Amino acid sequence: MRSTLNGGHLSGAERIVCGDFTQIIPDLMLQAMSYSNMPDSIAISVDTVDTSSIIYKSPLGIRTVESSSPEDALRISADLLKNSGVSPAAVEKANYLLRTGPSAGGGNMRGAVIMDSASGDRLEPDSSRGVRVSRVDYTMDARDSLINKLREEGIFHRRVVDALAIATKAAGRRETVAELCRSDDPDYTTGYIASRKCGYVRITNIKKKGDHVGGRVLFVRRNDLNIEEYIHYLERQPVIIRVRARRVRRVGSVKIKDLTP
Ligand code: AMP
Repeated sequence: MRSTLNGGHLSGAERIVCGDFTQIIPDLMLQAMSYSNMPDSIAISVDTVDTSSIIYKSPLGIRTVESSSPEDALRISADLLKNSGVSPAAVEKANYLLRTGPSAGGGNMRGAVIMDSASGDRLEPDSSRGVRVSRVDYTMDARDSLINKLREEGIFHRRVVDALAIATKAAGRRETVAELCRSDDPDYTTGYIASRKCGYVRITNIKKKGDHVGGRVLFVRRNDLNIEEYIHYLERQPVIIRVRARRVRRVGSVKIKDLTP
């Protein structure tokens, strides 16, 4: 689903469905209509996915860090990104882009910036559009269990479900060092950093309410990067996120459940 206003991108969402896809269309419509601005156009397109090409992944672990202000959030995200292997120069460039609008002419983009994690150079071929991570979804069990867990912890938001899918897919490629995200929704002020090392870390108050500027930066290791292959993975490779089956061991008459996420 893609919604637009005056020709500009507003929101997008995607699902991978086995069987009757018409059931999820009301959900996608609702998602388009729940954005803070009302779209003047909503388009839904349907593609076939070759099931033999699907890769399965486990979700990144979710954590939350409460920050007191955008300045505090900046410090926390910079610490986590550096800890994940991003250079201070790249962290600074990424934060500047997401504060001022990452599109080549300023403003928001539809997709992500791809940035060299050492130099901070931008590597995406079209720096007005960026690279859109797509073809990623959850199994029904994984989606339900994630939603239940988020509700239990009082942090359920559709954005977390969608963003965790994007972050898990991106982190699933060895070239990805980390990701930084700041929403372009003026009402949503929680951002995140994600990496295989830190997991998916929500950071509150990453921006002030009412701020329309946002974006995503994927930091990559440039040495062994084939940019076409990497972008093909992000945009075209179908990935489904599933929860690992709980192993139950039996010791004598006692059942021991493995709760490793
Ligand atoms: P959102 O978290 O949906 O507010 O998105 C924040 C920013 O991330 C947007 O302004 C886009 O630049 C970028 N973005 C949104 N969706 C995707 C996606 N599927 N893949 C890559 N970048 C995205």
